Amino acid sequence: MAEVVRLSRKGALALVEVDSPPVNAMSQEMRKGLLDCFAALTKDATVKAVLIHCAGRTFVSGADLREFDTGVGEPGYHQVFGVIENFDRPVIAALHGTAMGAGVEIALACHYRCAVPEAKLGLPEITLGIIPGAGGTQRLPRLMGAKPAAEMILSAAPIGAEKAKELGIIDEVIKGDLLAGATAYAEKLIASAAPPRPTSARPVDAAGFDDAYVNSALKDAAKKWRGQQAPKWVLDAIRVSLQLPVSEGVKREREISLAAENSLESRALRHLFFAEREVSRIPGLSADVKPKDINSVAIIGAGTMGRGIAICFADAGVSVRLIDTTSDAVVKALEAIDKTYDSSVNKGRLSLDEKAQRTARITAGTDIAAVANVDLVVEAAFESMEVKKELFAKFDKLCRADTILATNTSTLDINAIGAITSRPENVLGLHFFSPANVMRLLEIVRGAKTSPATLATAVALGKKLRKVGVVAGVCYGFIGNRMMLEGYVREADQLLLEGATPEQIDRVIVNFGMAMGPCTMNDMAGNDVALKSREVPGVRDGKPRPYNEVIDTLARMNRLGQKTGAGFYRYEPGDRTTHYDPVTDEVIAKLAKELNITRRQISDEEVEVRCIYPLINEGAKILEEGIAYRAGDIDVIWTTGYGFPRFRGGPMFYADSLGLKSVYDRIAELHKKHGFYWKPAPLLEKLAKSGGKFADYKSV
Ligand code: NAD
Repeated sequence: MAEVVRLSRKGALALVEVDSPPVNAMSQEMRKGLLDCFAALTKDATVKAVLIHCAGRTFVSGADLREFDTGVGEPGYHQVFGVIENFDRPVIAALHGTAMGAGVEIALACHYRCAVPEAKLGLPEITLGIIPGAGGTQRLPRLMGAKPAAEMILSAAPIGAEKAKELGIIDEVIKGDLLAGATAYAEKLIASAAPPRPTSARPVDAAGFDDAYVNSALKDAAKKWRGQQAPKWVLDAIRVSLQLPVSEGVKREREISLAAENSLESRALRHLFFAEREVSRIPGLSADVKPKDINSVAIIGAGTMGRGIAICFADAGVSVRLIDTTSDAVVKALEAIDKTYDSSVNKGRLSLDEKAQRTARITAGTDIAAVANVDLVVEAAFESMEVKKELFAKFDKLCRADTILATNTSTLDINAIGAITSRPENVLGLHFFSPANVMRLLEIVRGAKTSPATLATAVALGKKLRKVGVVAGVCYGFIGNRMMLEGYVREADQLLLEGATPEQIDRVIVNFGMAMGPCTMNDMAGNDVALKSREVPGVRDGKPRPYNEVIDTLARMNRLGQKTGAGFYRYEPGDRTTHYDPVTDEVIAKLAKELNITRRQISDEEVEVRCIYPLINEGAKILEEGIAYRAGDIDVIWTTGYGFPRFRGGPMFYADSLGLKSVYDRIAELHKKHGFYWKPAPLLEKLAKSGGKFADYKSV
């Protein structure tokens, strides 16, 4: 095996090269290699300075996350970083690529730092519910001041090398070849007899890091990192840097860091981190199946979804033909797309040049014959089986034999759509979420006849579009919408009939951590959308009343939500603020009477359980039916597409964390009381009785 850390010499300069592909993640082996190098260097008086640099595409990109499970083996971070910092001759770090977490922390333990202009530095630990625990919270304040350090860690966003120099983290920005430039910089330090300059010997600038700042930072963090404790831990650790020397401060930092690592929040966030990477591993899909490159797409339907999807593809460098039935629709769509790009330019996220390049990739028209020579068709027309069948029959006639035919349907049967073509193996669902250019989730729906090559292409395409592509099987609503419609929204409707109010349900669910409550969400999506999906023959079969009574009644009254100014709530023109509407109360009371339901006070606890547990029960059925490959896939869908709180890890992780026995017992009790819709999923019952977990269950 190749050595992870190599030592060489250039005159009086020792070069320590780290080489651990693919991204130089800091492992036990790397730490040991560094320690061995410095042990050898200590004895070599001819060495006047040491340069640490990395081979490959990046400087140390972060910690080796496998050590969360295995524990950090010897030598630990503090030992190695202490040796580097206490070395009696200057140690210089040379950064390129993305130095994150432990990558920044090793650089902080060096005496001098240089970087190429493109290098990025960041401390994103908070996204995993932890704190920079390898000296980051103690050394960073000594270079840039306590308040800026807190801001950088709480933002979790990486900064560029120039910015890092301005802030005092980087000493020298090196243009051109990094190794040559860094060597010259190190030689200059040797020539000027620059001393070792341990970060821990510097005082901390405490300016601005007072109680008022801490309180306001916590308030901001409560919005950005909802439900998370990590921001408080970060601020606690930074406060320690003001009170203790680094040698002591790192011990306190370690305690805080361990508490963070062991927290449920951190376990949930780490679960999602790995689950988001796991989604693209498709069971049974051979590595020999090579995805096709998608360079051109035709999008049919230039409405809400078609426009967002067009932007997505154009952003990824794919040429787009957008097609609708009238010139008016096409012109409006192009104007809307232009406006979306303008807003990115105005926010400084995009240059005018980039905007020009991206919009140039999008052409539009009304002639469907333009599908003839594209790699992929994405149909985003009306949610109607007749419309979709008619369109797919046309694609089948017009498209090249190898063109992939995708539908953006939210609920319709992909197998029936595929069956209308002579090439069902090329047909699948690409279910984007609104707004499609913003939302990270892409549900990839494999039909019974979708070929492995088509599926592999869709998974690769998801990555190209920088989406999290999760594969689902065919059923009403696939994974996400089925759980939402059949579990969550349906039970919220039932709670309204029994005595809860839209305000109570939404408040409880937002407090649980969801981005918004179900009634607000329905009003936003349009109450007619779900009603239409339930009018498809077969969907209501075998489902006793009450079944979505309130929402369907509101939709039939044309109370569609925000778009008509009234739904569950009332809205002022041009404003999305929800206002109490007595009409909704009357509708609910009348329906309850018709259905012989006596309304009562319902506790917040009951509201929470009855909205969230149906997600778990429906998720268990989805898993057992093989609609989802893994529980983690369901969690990724719900946290990236439906606003489920990340700090709870997704509905299936949440259930595992509660213990499946207690979840099963409660569902069984609700089944006794409320009947049909609460029948425990057989898989939940089985796992609860055997002490199992969703996390360990594989559907294939
Ligand atoms: P929309 O009504 O905003 O747009 C549909 C567009 O398709 C319209 O511009 C219409 O003129 C055009 N169209 C209809 N028939 C056509 C045809 N035969 N040829 C060409 N164009 C045609 O609808 P939307 O919200 O963009 O939804 C489109 C699809 O995406 C639906 O299947 C919907 O279920 C699905 N979807 C919607 C959302 C959402 O949040 N809106 C989310 C996911 C999926």
